[in-house]
Amino acid sequence: MTISFTKNPTPGKLPESDALGFGKYFTDHMFLMDYSDTDGWHDARIVPFGPVSLSPAAGVLHYGAEVFEGLKAYRRPDGGVQLFRPWENMARLNRSCDRIGLPRINKEDGLQAILELVRADERWVPSEPGTSLYIRPFLYSTNPTLSLHGVFAATFAVILSPSGNYFKNGLEPVSIMVETEDVRAVRGGTGEAKCGGNYAAANRAGDKAAEKGFAQVLWLDGVERKYVEEGGGMNVMFRINGTVVTPMLTGSILPGITRKSCIELLRSWGVSVEERLISVDELFEAAKTGALEEAWCVGTAAVVSPIGELAWGKRKYTINDNRIGPLSQKLYDELTGIQRGTKPDPFGWVCRVC
Ligand SMILES: *Cc1c(COP(=O)(O)O)cnc(C)c1O
Repeated sequence: MTISFTKNPTPGKLPESDALGFGKYFTDHMFLMDYSDTDGWHDARIVPFGPVSLSPAAGVLHYGAEVFEGLKAYRRPDGGVQLFRPWENMARLNRSCDRIGLPRINKEDGLQAILELVRADERWVPSEPGTSLYIRPFLYSTNPTLSLHGVFAATFAVILSPSGNYFKNGLEPVSIMVETEDVRAVRGGTGEAKCGGNYAAANRAGDKAAEKGFAQVLWLDGVERKYVEEGGGMNVMFRINGTVVTPMLTGSILPGITRKSCIELLRSWGVSVEERLISVDELFEAAKTGALEEAWCVGTAAVVSPIGELAWGKRKYTINDNRIGPLSQKLYDELTGIQRGTKPDPFGWVCRVC
């Protein structure tokens, strides 16, 4: 694929690393590529970051036809830059496209777009511990018609955002509450696709939780409202009597790449991991008796974030004295070590950018 390049004539100023936050700042350039049913994907280009124009009738604005990905570029100690398992993101993007009825992209082209864009804006990759360049590929329908059938115009875009910790307080444990009214997804719905619509469905509960002082919602399955699903932007893991338990991928849970990597790491250490249904009753019973030794969220943005407090209606338990536990700490250290290139990469997860 040939990518044209239009240099930004007014490059931005790098923010201080402690002011980064998450997703607030964007780099000098972005990648765009258009799709039409007659020409397929065409006009791959890197251009100055800025507004995009689209028809007010565009499919994405009315029918939510949008999917996205999230990955990070990490600064290595030797000054180089690398990605973590980007091939997984490209494969998942296409699975999400299939579910939402958007055109797939060639996975190699998608990766090339990311690599060339990160190289163009390499100076924006921060190096402080806990910081990275967050990469947001997304793909949406630009169909200029209110008709529902088929997608004959779409755009694939990539934007970059230098970011610090996802949660304000870094590795400090977060409080999460079980959501009992709203549901995020149902089997057969779009829960396992990484699409904007899932987030729209989650907004109300997220806002309500934030008002009550919780950092996250813990979703239950949409049918029985009995089984724990995920954090709605991150997957969850629990250490119960020495065994790590994580909700199985039933179709309504997003198959996280961090989740998959943690499972692979844990098994390589000989830790037993069960991917199964876990009911909220079982979880809170384990919390009550102390069998629940550790709980943590996993995701690209949050990495490994310990859960210090778990609430469900009037029931509320503190986990591991509201401190990060030994296994979540070990996972965090190993994963971030591989991602940043301070530890060996025995699984071949790393992809060098430069
Ligand atoms: C992206 C996402 C995750 C985490 O997936 P990773 O590949 O680990 O970043 C979990 N849940 C939802 C709903 C997500 O959108």
